[in-house]
Amino acid sequence: MRGSCHCGAVRFETRGPPRRTSICHCSQCRRQSGGTWASADLARGDVTITGEVRWYHATDRAQRGFCPTCGAFLFWEDEASDEIGVALGAVDGPTELVVLRHLYVPDPAAQPGGPLRDACLCGAVTVTLDADPGAITACHCVQCRKTSGHVPHSLDDPDRLSRIEGEVATFQSPGGALRSFCPTCGTKIAFDGPTGLLSLEAGLFDALAGRAPDLHIFTAFKGDYYDIPPNVPAAPEAGPD
Ligand SMILES: [Zn+2]
Ligand SMILES: [Zn+2]
Ligand SMILES: [Zn+2]
Repeated sequence: MRGSCHCGAVRFETRGPPRRTSICHCSQCRRQSGGTWASADLARGDVTITGEVRWYHATDRAQRGFCPTCGAFLFWEDEASDEIGVALGAVDGPTELVVLRHLYVPDPAAQPGGPLRDACLCGAVTVTLDADPGAITACHCVQCRKTSGHVPHSLDDPDRLSRIEGEVATFQSPGGALRSFCPTCGTKIAFDGPTGLLSLEAGLFDALAGRAPDLHIFTAFKGDYYDIPPNVPAAPEAGPD
């Protein structure tokens, strides 16, 4: 497989079939992807990476790699083994894989609830939403999949009061949207649409961890390695504007 981040500065190539594949819902992957993160695990020697990757240690054992220019969350490396996880959302063209294994799935009945005030993985950026979060939208477009590493979940509403505190890095996508992320840990923060819509990444908030998306958009562009749940509203060619 070959792939790249959203801006193209980081590229990777893998050899041979992955040892395993999974979609991770843990709080660290949630923050860095904005939603959930899909990966293929390979031997480190079977993955070639080019371009500058910024690594962040969320734990002593593992480091997480993202593109410092566009924020794309691409790699997870367990330093105690010879393995590296590579983001399936960043793969160019079909992966010819089917990912069935889900890790750290939150129990919807055990939602923490509480205020929508939370922080990125490293704690440098905090986000507060002083309103009902409303619907959660999952975007399957190629730009979002490459930035997230799988499928980001967002809270979309131009009229809501939100407060972002701390320094964020931004990347302007073709089409004009400004994507912001924490430059230290790669947590996805917000998506400023060209028409003035501000979306906050739902993955930031522990209080929303157990909620499945209410709407799926740009489903015509989804990856080949997962299915969208049936009976959930979907907009094949549409996005927020
Ligand atoms: Zn990039
Ligand atoms: Zn994870
Ligand atoms: Zn951070």
